[in-house]
Amino acid sequence: MPVLTLGTTTIPYTIEERPRRQHPAIQVDADRKVTVLLPLHFPEDQIEPLLARKARWILNHVTAPLPPTPMSSKRFVSGEGFLFRGHLLRLKVSTTSAAQPEVTQQGRTLRVTVPTLPAPQQSIAVRDVLTQWFYQQAAEVLPQRVNHYAGVVGIGPERLKISEYKSRWGFCREDGLIALNWRIIQAPLPVIDYVVVHELTHRRYPHHRQTFWQAVEAVLPDYEVRKQWLKDHGAELGW
Ligand SMILES: [Zn+2]
Repeated sequence: MPVLTLGTTTIPYTIEERPRRQHPAIQVDADRKVTVLLPLHFPEDQIEPLLARKARWILNHVTAPLPPTPMSSKRFVSGEGFLFRGHLLRLKVSTTSAAQPEVTQQGRTLRVTVPTLPAPQQSIAVRDVLTQWFYQQAAEVLPQRVNHYAGVVGIGPERLKISEYKSRWGFCREDGLIALNWRIIQAPLPVIDYVVVHELTHRRYPHHRQTFWQAVEAVLPDYEVRKQWLKDHGAELGW
């Protein structure tokens, strides 16, 4: 694997050819893996200069602090609490003879119906259907928040992706893709908005220097409180 050396940091990277690409791009994924995406016939001697130009951006992304690793402390049984947009909902599991699992929110109760199964499989079925439900909520709410704040920040993503990332709440790729972790839908709306504004601001400032934080602060003057919430409660959102 080729490596990029930046000061005292050595960063391995992989090269992938993408025939449909017009321009090269550099991607740092959730596990901090660096991939260089190249159009066909990209001159090999241009790869190093490309990396050198983007050195600071790469270093910022590779060394950005990781949110707490999800730890599955949940058992997915009745009575357990789940956060949804900052509200604590109580899980109520019932079984059915129907094959189709279902989730409905009724006030502060999150009702989950799953087929009758032995306990371990039932927990997995509850977890899976809850994951789907939270993902659907995220897919509905997050694009609206991104649209709203794109107007405020003055720039939107080229593409928005909502997915699951082991160790990040979101990221902004150099080609304009903004990716958000569906798990952020569990956080209170002001915290969700902080993650959205953070990534949108990276469209202008692809680093975490002072200019970046000033731009975040201009949109969310209390962003530090929101950021702190994630530090304090982030681990609760991983299950
Ligand atoms: Zn960032």
